[in-house]
Amino acid sequence: MGEESEDHVKRRRLRERMVKSRAPFSELRRRWHARKIDEEVWDELEETLLLADVGPTTTARLLEAVRSRVGKESLADGINEVLAQAICAQLEENSTSRSLVFDEGTTNVWMLVGVNGVGKTTTAAKLAAREQLAGRSVLLAAADTFRAAAAEQLGIWADQLGIEVIRGQDRGDPGAVAFDAVQAAVARNIDLVVVDTAGRLHNKKNLMEELAKVSRVVQRTSALLSEVLLVLDATTGQNGLAQAREFVARAGVTGVVLTKVDGAAKGGIVLAIESELNVPVKLLGVGEAVEDLVVFDPHDFAAALVE
Ligand code: GDP
Repeated sequence: MGEESEDHVKRRRLRERMVKSRAPFSELRRRWHARKIDEEVWDELEETLLLADVGPTTTARLLEAVRSRVGKESLADGINEVLAQAICAQLEENSTSRSLVFDEGTTNVWMLVGVNGVGKTTTAAKLAAREQLAGRSVLLAAADTFRAAAAEQLGIWADQLGIEVIRGQDRGDPGAVAFDAVQAAVARNIDLVVVDTAGRLHNKKNLMEELAKVSRVVQRTSALLSEVLLVLDATTGQNGLAQAREFVARAGVTGVVLTKVDGAAKGGIVLAIESELNVPVKLLGVGEAVEDLVVFDPHDFAAALVE
């Protein structure tokens, strides 16, 4: 027996982390064992996709794709494999590029936005650690000055990772923190600044204005704001989509980081996010540890969900 390849390990881990989301699809396959395909099978599949938060439009599309590809005399337990291919094809059609934009030769800025509690601070630390491991110099900016705990938490992560973090005054101006951090990074030729932002202000309008201000401030420097990543909590399902729309409309979002995928029961939300927000999912948070951040791969994800 040879050693398990790196890709194989990656896929197996994702599968293990997505155990809750894959459960209903594994259950279908068990129930369908040695059964011929009939209308009831299609009803069960439709119901399972809808319950997984895939959304009605995409569910209809996937059903059509799968139905057109399986023979009438086929056994139902082969459907999962065909469904995985259809999900992968749908994801690939949604977006051809999911890699994080990074322009060599300048200081890049990746800003994280999203409501409180979704995992922004944790994701900032995970991202910084990942990029540092890849050989890039990284600076963290704690621009959530409205919640002292957020800056403290980022400070703890930064200490553990040996990454510098720029913090501002409590209740200070988030734009000023971002500006100071980016200026310092430019002056020192640092490759990347990861900016954690506030998730809640007195009201939504203020929050959106504040985020717009932070991104304007960054754009006034010579650094490049190459990603604005919207962090969404997979466990909130369709409810999270309503708030997400506002961020997408107002904060110039370039990609989604879907967190807590390990605790979520409805992994189909990835498809709903992409069809409703028209923004690609770029990363998945699959646990609380710093290494629990994975690049979103349509093939691996589809297989982990339904196969
Ligand atoms: P923020 O308010 O958006 O900055 O959220 P935090 O980064 O403080 O995270 C809120 C909680 O979610 C913390 O307890 C994190 O450990 C947890 N968390 C973040 N990402 C993940 C994830 O991918 N999986 C799990 N299980 N927990 C996560």
